[in-house]
Parts: sequence; structure tokens; C-alpha cells
Amino acid sequence: MVLDIPTIAIVYFYISFIQVLIMLFVFRIIKIYPGMNYLLFSCIFSAVCGLLYACQYGSRYGNLLVFFSNISFYFSILALNIGFSKFLDLPVAKKKLLLLSILFFAGYFWFSFVNVNKSYRIIVLCLVFAFASFQNSKILSSHTINSVRPATRLIAAACIPYGTFFTLRALLTFFKETQNYNFSTFFSFMSYFLSIAGILLWTYCFIVMTVQREHADRTYAEERFRLIFKTIPDTVFISELPTGKIIDVNETYTTLTGYTKEESLGKTTLDLKFWRDLGDRDQFFRIMEMDGSCKNLEITILTKDRKELNALISSQITRFQNSTYIISVIRDITSNKELTQKLKKSEDTFQAIMEQSPMSFILTNTSGEIEYANPTFLRLMGYDLEEVLGKNPRILKSGYHNKEFYHNLWNTILSGKQWSSEIVNKKRNGDFIWENIILTPILNEEGKIVQFLSTLEDISDRKRTEQELKIQARTDMLTGIMNRRSFMETANKRLLNIKEHGQTAAFLMIDIDRFKTINDSFGHNVGDRAICMVTEECQNLIKGQDLLGRIGGEEFAALVLGFSEEEIALAAELLCRRIEALEFYTENQERIPLRISVGVTFYHLDTDTLESLMERSDVALYQAKNAGRNQISVIY
Ligand code: GH3
Ligand code: MG
Ligand code: MG
Repeated sequence: MVLDIPTIAIVYFYISFIQVLIMLFVFRIIKIYPGMNYLLFSCIFSAVCGLLYACQYGSRYGNLLVFFSNISFYFSILALNIGFSKFLDLPVAKKKLLLLSILFFAGYFWFSFVNVNKSYRIIVLCLVFAFASFQNSKILSSHTINSVRPATRLIAAACIPYGTFFTLRALLTFFKETQNYNFSTFFSFMSYFLSIAGILLWTYCFIVMTVQREHADRTYAEERFRLIFKTIPDTVFISELPTGKIIDVNETYTTLTGYTKEESLGKTTLDLKFWRDLGDRDQFFRIMEMDGSCKNLEITILTKDRKELNALISSQITRFQNSTYIISVIRDITSNKELTQKLKKSEDTFQAIMEQSPMSFILTNTSGEIEYANPTFLRLMGYDLEEVLGKNPRILKSGYHNKEFYHNLWNTILSGKQWSSEIVNKKRNGDFIWENIILTPILNEEGKIVQFLSTLEDISDRKRTEQELKIQARTDMLTGIMNRRSFMETANKRLLNIKEHGQTAAFLMIDIDRFKTINDSFGHNVGDRAICMVTEECQNLIKGQDLLGRIGGEEFAALVLGFSEEEIALAAELLCRRIEALEFYTENQERIPLRISVGVTFYHLDTDTLESLMERSDVALYQAKNAGRNQISVIY
């Protein structure tokens, strides 16, 4: 056998073909990394190149076969370049490769068909191969994937002599040094030898590279799994099927169950009395049998010291090296459950308070719509729940309070503060109701108002009593006219008014004559009746702004406005006479004489006060009494 170029081309083809087979095999057993398909294409093109070149000899289409063989070789190195970049997570130098392709095809076509020149064609080929080799060397030495570095370094180093050889060949061809037949054959041989060496080296490195990368990835994945297994806050344990024996547990397992790893390995969950209810276990295995996995199944487990824990279990059946395992993750939800129960309880309590409280509650959202009203509110105001939900509390407005009142209310609650007051609200039937209101803005965690709670207490009864007490405090119980205190207060105010308007006024002091005798002779009740009758007569005297008060036992005071002194004196005189003429009888129809004495005086705008008026009228009354009673006396 002669080692000529056709033979070596066939050897080259075989080796490339075997390389393709090896790569296909690698493809099957190792997961596909990016760029591996390009590397496979590179080998296929390389094999095609060898095949075409070997076939040229003795063929009619020799030139065409060489032409396509070279183009195949170019595609092979192009795919190799892209494959390396992708495999090593580097960007593909698209622009460079495009420019190289343009130069290659333009030069190669030109010297093949337009200006046919074999030497220049070889130069173009050699320069492109040299450039691609240096480029590959650069890619292989500049990546950051540590796991494949030894293999890539070796190929990178091999690329340099390969590139150098083609550069040298291009130069020598250019200077026509290779015209010599021996030289030309030598270079052709060398090109094939180097390529065969390159392919062998590259195949070996490729396998090393992928295996190393796969190994590194697996180690990393394992490390990652270990780390997750170790640090996960949930309990993880792995048990073997069908024995159910625990083969691995994480640290959280010990914290949760109280069992150490050593105590648990080789035992089953039954041995460890892990299940409180065996029903849970049955259900768990039923699900696992059916689905091969289970997600968040609620179970109750027992710890080493027999404490019950509520937990969620999620499991997955997995096969590894002919064995079957169950990986289980357990999450302790005892505290969650307790919290939920607590929340539920407080919610129920809250609900009960709301439902049964004698107080009214309304919850309003920030748009002013009622979201909740308790039964007390509904009963008191006469509404059904559906009628108030979504309505504005404005429906309760009575019109009793002014704008400032509501202004103040809103200002307070919108600033996040509580506001309280007594308020008059309107019921559905139009009746008014006095209520004590506490308006509380409800804030969320960020301090933003989300709702308003109105707490209302019906204080209508208290208000009524207060009103009555107020009236009682100002009224004389026997006669219903003003008592002394109320008369004095009102008279003082009235005098200020009179002074301001420059009005005339008279002050009268009226006292029943010999009243003690009436009491003594006919009894206290008769005395009371006498007081009431005198009151009625006195009330005829006063009108409009005038005031009448009972300021002592049988003593009255009157402030009369707007009359002349003569008219007043006449009116007082008339009062005496009318009382004297009253038909006042005992039960036995015995007529009781009823008489009064009146002291009259007039208001001096500049000098008088209520006290001075009272003093003077008292003096006048004293004079009337002294003068024989049943008459008036005037001091001007
Ligand atoms: P005089 O003519 O000087 O006014 O003699 P008088 O008896 O009317 O005078 P006095 O002021 O001494 O007596 C008033 C009496 O009125 C004394 C008191 O017992 C009696 N009295 C005071 N308040 C009441 C009352 O509410 N009802 C009755 N029935 N008697 C009263
Ligand atoms: Mg008297
Ligand atoms: Mg008296």
C-alpha cells in the first residue's frame, strides 16, 4: 500500500466518520450542552470533506469534488467556531465570521471560476484556515468555565501550530516556493496529517470536555441539593421503598421530631410511632400509590416526647439506581393553626360583642359607605341591614347640629384621632334620638385610615331627665313660675337689655298679708292654694318681656316694662283690689279674706342695679305693711 494523498484522504474520511459516531454516542449519554450540535455538524462536514477529496482521483468531476471538499472543510471550521463559542457560553463573533465567509467565498470563487489560479486559491484557503485556528485558540483560552479548562487549553495550544502551518503554507505558496512538486506534496500530506492529528486530539478533548462539564454540573447540583437539604426550614427525610426505612434526614428533622439522625436511620415511621392516627398513614400511602406524589396533606405527627404537631406533608416517589425512594417534606403548621384558631376565636368574640352589645356600632369605609351595622343600631333606628349597607351615615342627620359641629368631627377623625360628643340623630320614622357618639378611625399597619367605627349609646332618657331637672331647678314647684334663683338671673339679664335700649321699667314686691294666720287657721294646704291664686292674679299683670317670680314663701317679685309710673301704680292698686275680691273659701265654704301689700319702685337707668331695686321695693312694701296692709306703696 502506498501512502499517497488519496489514501490519506480516505483515512481522514474514516477518522472523521468515526468521530461523528463518537459524537453521536456522546450525545446520547450526556445531556446536550449549547453548541454541541454545531460541533457535530463540524465533524460531519469534516468527514464529507475527506470523502469528497478521496473520491476526486480518477473521477471525471475531480475539480468539482475538490471544490466542494474545500467548501465542506470551510463549513466544518465555521461550525467548530460557533460550536466552541456556544459551548463555552461566549458570544458568537457573528460579524467576524460573516466577514471571513464573504472573503473566503469571494476569493475562492474568484480564483476557481473567474481568474482561475490554483496557487491563489490555496492561499485563500490557508489564510482562512489559519485565521479560524487562531480565532478558535482565542475562544478556547478566554472562557470562564473552570471545569473544562484543561481540555480547552490543550486544544487552544494545538490550534496555534495548526494555524502557523497554514500561514506558512500560504506564504510559501505566495512566493512560489511550493511550485516544486515535492514541496507541494509535502504540504498536502502535512495538511492531512495535521488535520488527522487535530481531529484525534479534538475528539479526545471533546469527550473529556463534555464529561468534565457534566461531572462539574452534577457535583454542583449535588452540592446545591445538599445545601437545600441542610438549610431548608422544613423537615426533609428520605425513605426507601418498599421497606419504608429512613435513609436520610436533615437537621430540621431533629429539631422537629426530637429524634437524632442516628436514632432514625434504618427505622420506619411506624417504628418511630410517628403517626398519631394510622388513618393519616393509610390515606398518605393511598395517595402515593395512586399519584406517585402528594402535596400538602394535613396530618398529625407525634414527636419523640409524644407531643402532637399539626403538619403538612408533601412527598414524591423517585427511582435512583434500581431503587425506589420517597422524598418527604414536612411543614409544621401547629403555630399557624393555633394562630388561626385564636384569630377565629377573637373574630367570634368580636362578632358576639357586636351582635349582643346594647351599644350601636356602625363600620363605615373611607368612601363614607356603611359596611356593617349591628342589630342594636338597626333596632333602635328602625332600619333593616340591607337598607343601610352602602348608604352614607348622612341618613341619620337630624339637622340639630350646625356646620361647625360636623367640620370639627371630620377634622378630628381625618387626622387619625378619636372624636366623641353627644349628638342628635334621626330615626327612620323621623323621631330624634340623643346619642353619645365615639367615632374612631381604624388605621392599617402603615397608619392609613381604612375604616371608621361609630360607637353610639342611646342617651335619650338621660337627656330627658337632665332637661326636666334643668326646668325644675329654674321653676317653683308649687306655682310653676320662676323660683328666686331663676328670677334673679333672668331679671339681671333683662335689666342689662333695658339699660341698653333706654326702656322704662318698674319693680314690684308683692307679699300676702297675714299669711301665717291663713296657714295657722286653715292649714298648710289652704295656704298653698292661696299662694297659687295670688300667682294667677299676678300673671294677669305681666305680659311679653315682663318677669314674675316667687322669691319667698308668700312673696313675689315682678319686673314690668314699658309703662308710665302712673299706669304701674294703677295696675298695682288694681291687683290689690282684685285679690281682695277673690272668692277664696275653705272646704266648709267659709270665705277666707285674701289680701296683699305691694311695694313699687322704678328703674333708674344710670344708678340702679337689681339689688338696689329689690331693696327699694322692699322698703316700699314695708311701708305698705306699716300703713295697715292691703295697699300699695311707691318709692320713686
Ligand atoms: P305679714 O302680714 O307681715 O306679711 O305677715 P305674715 O304672716 O304673712 O308674715 P310671715 O312672713 O311672718 O309669714 C309667712 C309664712 O308663710 C311663714 C311660713 O310658715 C309660711 N309659708 C312659707 N312658705 C309656705 C308655703 O309654701 N306654703 C304655705 N302654706 N305656707 C308657707
Ligand atoms: Mg306676708
Ligand atoms: Mg312674707
